[in-house]
Formats: sequence, structure tokens, C-alpha cells
Amino acid sequence: MTFADLGLSPKVLSAVTDAGYTKPTPIQAGAIPHALMGKDVLGIAQTGTGKTAAFVLPMITRLEKGRARARMPRTLILEPTRELAAQVEENFVKYGKNHKLNIALLIGGVSFDEQDKKLERGADVLIATPGRLLDHRERGKLLLNGVEILVIDEADRMLDMGFIPDIERICEMIPFTRQTLFFSATMPPEITKLTEKFLHAPVRVEVARAATTASTVTQRLVKSAPKPWDKREVLRNLIRAEADELKNAIIFCNRKVEVSDLYKSLLKYEFDAGALHGDMDQRARMAMLDSFRSGKLKLLVASDVAARGLDIPDVSHVFNFDVPIHAEDYVHRIGRTGRAGRSGKSFTIVTRSDTKYLDAIEKLIGQNIEWLDGDLSTVVASESDDEAPRRGRGAPRRAGRKDEGERKRGRRESPAKPAEEMLADAEAPAAEAVPERSERKDAIKADNAARGSRSGGAKGERSDKPRNDDRPRREDRRRRDDDLNDGTVGFGDDMPAFMLIEAKV
Ligand code: AMP
Repeated sequence: MTFADLGLSPKVLSAVTDAGYTKPTPIQAGAIPHALMGKDVLGIAQTGTGKTAAFVLPMITRLEKGRARARMPRTLILEPTRELAAQVEENFVKYGKNHKLNIALLIGGVSFDEQDKKLERGADVLIATPGRLLDHRERGKLLLNGVEILVIDEADRMLDMGFIPDIERICEMIPFTRQTLFFSATMPPEITKLTEKFLHAPVRVEVARAATTASTVTQRLVKSAPKPWDKREVLRNLIRAEADELKNAIIFCNRKVEVSDLYKSLLKYEFDAGALHGDMDQRARMAMLDSFRSGKLKLLVASDVAARGLDIPDVSHVFNFDVPIHAEDYVHRIGRTGRAGRSGKSFTIVTRSDTKYLDAIEKLIGQNIEWLDGDLSTVVASESDDEAPRRGRGAPRRAGRKDEGERKRGRRESPAKPAEEMLADAEAPAAEAVPERSERKDAIKADNAARGSRSGGAKGERSDKPRNDDRPRREDRRRRDDDLNDGTVGFGDDMPAFMLIEAKV
């Protein structure tokens, strides 16, 4: 089957050809003909399946008839995040290059005035996050009774983010006669209820069984002792071991505060890392994303919410620094790699307290994930979840001494929290804001200048020979700590050995 078989207009077909796509993906082949006939569509598809074009292409074709009126958009696309909304806009620009479409983007972090002007001109396509859309409506600048096509994208993420009441309100504001195109990667009961309420005799197009991971992704579990510094060490070792194959990677954390901590730790160990979380302003997020997309940045640390639906083609690796609490998130995370038939790798760092979540994931995806190097039974008993690793005479020195420093400074994490609490924390403000890329680069530059010794080697990593442990050199540690001002007090990493001898009682 080709795009020409789907019933798209010649102008749209020409833009698709220019984009270099020759064959529709299954969700496109399944959804486009029905969408062109004006039917409601329920598309069950993960990101990476080409689902954006599955609604953008028929919409542009249908928009060729008629024109927009001031403040009365003709179509509305709801997206859960700003980035995803911006990406959909890019798709309209790409596939609408032969049309004169007025596109308005209503997302947070951009002034209302600018957005009002676009609405005033009359929008053919309105792309919005639910909160900002309702804000505009309440200001009286937006009328939704001219909407002919409504798209609800990433519905299960909307559910996770608590947007379902907003979505219901919006659906009720739009004429009953509209066409609705509804997309979700998974179909939890709340989403099924929503489709029953707001879709009319929808055509169901399911491209992969809900919650399956692509067969092109090699998935592995990696055991770790429970503390964050243990996990960071495991992660560093994994990244190094994968260096030859690792083109770029997304590293997922469950909570914003972990995104921030891990990002800083990776920079200290001279990895080429950036971070993405909900607290960053729009410009900083876009700049970070652009650097990652263009390949300037190799590692991107992100929370689920921040990374959801981002179109980053060809990610070679996904690292789950934390096992996701929602099993569906595992599927979404893994969906970042192995796209469009390419091969990809994922590594999930697992501690003993994660087994409940791991079981749920394996049940959901219907397969057992292989361990990379033995399962948790080989994690030494003294490093149980309730007890920090003990140090004493004869105890092996641990590799990540900077992280030990954090522990000595009393930055212990509180005991494991219940899942609900962790979810509540998931988008709580980070302890420290992630520095902008410019600051990040300045910190690295200052560090390099201080050492005056960095040439060749893999981008972002130390160029000299690997040592048999990954401790930063003593003199470097001091300088780096100064540069990044991480507040080391007392002995820091340089605790004299005698202080580590356990007292006999
Ligand atoms: P999406 O699922 O919409 O996030 O799309 C995932 C990626 O697939 C994007 O980079 C699209 O540009 C790309 N894509 C969309 N349609 C096709 C197609 N028919 N053939 C190849 N790639 C496509």
C-alpha cells in the first residue's frame, strides 16, 4: 500500500513525498481512510508508530474546504505537554507546506497576547494543552462552537497528569456533530469510559497489542544495591560498557528531584548530559531538546512527564534509572528506542524494593526480561534496602567516592515511600533547579581550563585511559566541587582511613 491509496489530497501527498515517506505505517493505513470519511477513530498506538501523521494528514486534506473565522478555530488538537504540542505544530508545518494554514499554539510559558492575536486572525488548526485552552476560554477570547474536528492525543498520559476532568469539560463545549480522533497507547478503564462517552461509533484501529514493547529492542535488567549513589555507579558503568554502541540515550527517573541529582552527578563525572523536567521554562526545555536532537548532547536525563511523546528519532539506548511505578510507563519509555524497525537497547536498574513494580511490568508486557549479570539474589545482604552499606576495616572501597561524600554529608534519602506518595512527588519542585545549558557548559569549561588537559577521546568523557575504578582524581574532585559549588563540608571525599575503622563494642 502507498500513501496514494489512502485518499489524501494531491497537495498533501506531495508534502508527504517531500518528507521522504513512501509507505504508510500501520496506524496511518488503518486510520487515514476512516478519518477522511469523517468517522470517529479510536487509535491505540504508541509513540513512534507514525500516529501524528495519522491524524495530521487527513485533517489537512479535510481543511482544504472552508475557512476559519475570527476566534473560532476549525479544528482542535489537545496534547498533554508543551513539547508534544510544539511537535504536532511542526508536523502541520511540514505536511501543510502546500497550504496556507493558520496554526495557533496555546501552551504555557508563552504570552497570552501573542496567542490572542493568532486566535483573532482565525485558526484553521488550534493545538493546545488543556489548562491553557481553558484559560483562554475563560478570558472570553476563544469560541469552541466552530470546531469541526477534535483530536485527543496521548489520552492515557492525560489521565496520568490529571487532565481528564478538563478534557471532559472541553468535549462538552464542542458541538456534538464534530468528528473526534482519539489516540492512546494503552486503554485503562478510565480511558475506555471516556471514549464511550465522547466518541460516536468509532472505528477502532489498534496497531500493536496494548502495552507491547517493540521486538527490535533488547531489554535487560541490571541489579543494584538500593541507594541512589549505588544506582548512579551502576549507571555509569553501564554507559561506559555500552560506549561503542551508544549513540544517544534517554535516562528516565521517576521523580524530578532524581532527575536533578543524577544530572549533576553525571556532569561531575564528565558525561555529556542534559536534563529535562517540568520545572524548566519553555525556552530552556526547547534548547535542551534541540541539543539532544542535533546530537550535541549525548545523554538526556528526564522524568516521564517531561519526556512523554517527544519525537526524538533514532535513540540508541534507554536507561531506566528507576523502575517505573506505572507499568505502562515502562512501555512508553522503551518506546523511545527501537523505533521504525531500528534496533535499540534498554537497561533497567532494579533494586530489591522494585520487585513489585517489576512483576507488574513483566505481567503487562507478557514476557520476562533477562538479567544482564545475575539477578538480585547476588546483591550482598548488607546492602539491603533498610540499611546503608557499612564501611569498616577490610571493607572494599566503593568506586563512586563522590557519592559517598554526599552520604557522609547527611544527604540520605528517606526510607522508601509508598507509591502514592512518590506519584504525588513526581512533579514536585526539584530541590535545586537544573542549570541552563550555558551554565552547564561554563561549569565544564571552567573545569577543563583548571585541569588544562583534555584532548581527543569520546565526546564528553575523559580522554585518558580508563582507570580500574571510576573515582574522579583527587585534585580534580576538589576543583570540580569548587566549580559546581556543591557545598561539601568537613572531610568530604577525603575522609582519613582511621575514621572508617569500626569501633569495637
Ligand atoms: P510519531 O509516532 O507520530 O511520533 O512518529 C514517529 C516517527 O516516525 C516520526 O519521526 C515521524 O516523522 C516518522 N514517520 C511518520 N510516518 C512515517 C512513515 N510513513 N514512514 C517512515 N517514518 C514515518
